[in-house]
Amino acid sequence: MDFQYVSHANRVIFGQGKMKQTKEELAKLGKKAIVLATPEQSELANEVAEIIEELCGFVYTKAVQHVPVETVIDAQAIVEKEKIDVLLAVGGGSSIGLAKALALNTSLPILAIPTTYAGSEMTPVWGLTENNRKKTGTNIIVKPKTVIYDSNLTLTLPKWLTVTSGMNAIAHCAEGLYAENANPIVSLFAEDGVRALASSLPRILEKPEDMEARGEAQYGTMLGGMVLGSVGMALHHKLCHTLGGTFNLPHAETHTVILPYAIQYNASHIPKAMDALARALNTTQDDVPGALYDLSSSLGSHTSLEALGLKVSDLDKVAEIATKNPYYNPRPVNKEGIRELLQYAFEGKRPELAYVK
Ligand code: NAD
Repeated sequence: MDFQYVSHANRVIFGQGKMKQTKEELAKLGKKAIVLATPEQSELANEVAEIIEELCGFVYTKAVQHVPVETVIDAQAIVEKEKIDVLLAVGGGSSIGLAKALALNTSLPILAIPTTYAGSEMTPVWGLTENNRKKTGTNIIVKPKTVIYDSNLTLTLPKWLTVTSGMNAIAHCAEGLYAENANPIVSLFAEDGVRALASSLPRILEKPEDMEARGEAQYGTMLGGMVLGSVGMALHHKLCHTLGGTFNLPHAETHTVILPYAIQYNASHIPKAMDALARALNTTQDDVPGALYDLSSSLGSHTSLEALGLKVSDLDKVAEIATKNPYYNPRPVNKEGIRELLQYAFEGKRPELAYVK
């Protein structure tokens, strides 16, 4: 064996109802918090403010997607004026993203209470949008010091967000299995993450009050975030960024559509990862892409790029942009191969390994 593994330890409090421990956890990090949330989650932000009582210095509910620099400047002025010493993010990647941008500028610690399956709370990755361009980077200072997972907070997640955000978490795990710097520790997280999510998402949709399943989905999300924060991603994420960034396709839905075809493309070059995915999905190696497709289609999500609004005339351009700059992928990436993958994803037929040239 030969590998490098770097752990970025943080504290995780996990379980139904654990949000009520927020005050005692927060007190370990600071004395005066700003609660950060999106406008849609103002009510939840106020609930958290009540829980933390005198530790609440301000409730800021103007977080939006992709962390615009204007929002960061606005929130940072409050942080400075109110002499805030700890950032408390409640919500999905947008609320946590705002906390991370503030931490990058101020070095203040973050306590995160995630309510989606995006997994940002477990990564040192930050993002910031300025003049319509999103910059991202990695800095350990932005990784939340404490994360509280409370399955009750996922009860209000709309069905579509449950499915697409959950499939996004599966994608973090799947690509982690064949990352350039993949290692046996991260592969353990990744395989169990896929298993937990693939098993729990259908149960949540079938019986929304199944709290055991909701806890399992959050556990898979946590593992997906640990994978995303530890190793590099490859073709799947590159394609999703191209489709999201240049063609404006929705983030989580695009992940849901592309994943089976990205795995299909890489399959012949990733035997160990295919073994792990087959175990996690309880299927055969040959049927891993098909099983991922069945999972998302059985949960009612879109399965084709056409359904997301892409035009067939855009496929050549996507292939060109996605292959312009070289990056790591287990199977060499060329324009012709990626164009073929995109055609499959555009049509949205169930992927079979036998189709791959
Ligand atoms: P989000 O935070 O943008 O939330 C989407 C919407 O759902 C918002 O209106 C929010 O208020 C609402 N919402 C969230 N949780 C809810 C709940 N439990 N019930 C009802 N409504 C709820 O969505 P997201 O998918 O969590 O985050 C996406 C963003 O996170 C993107 O900008 C993405 O780039 C970023 N991201 C970053 C990382 C990282 O490591 N830095 C990882 C994953 C995603």
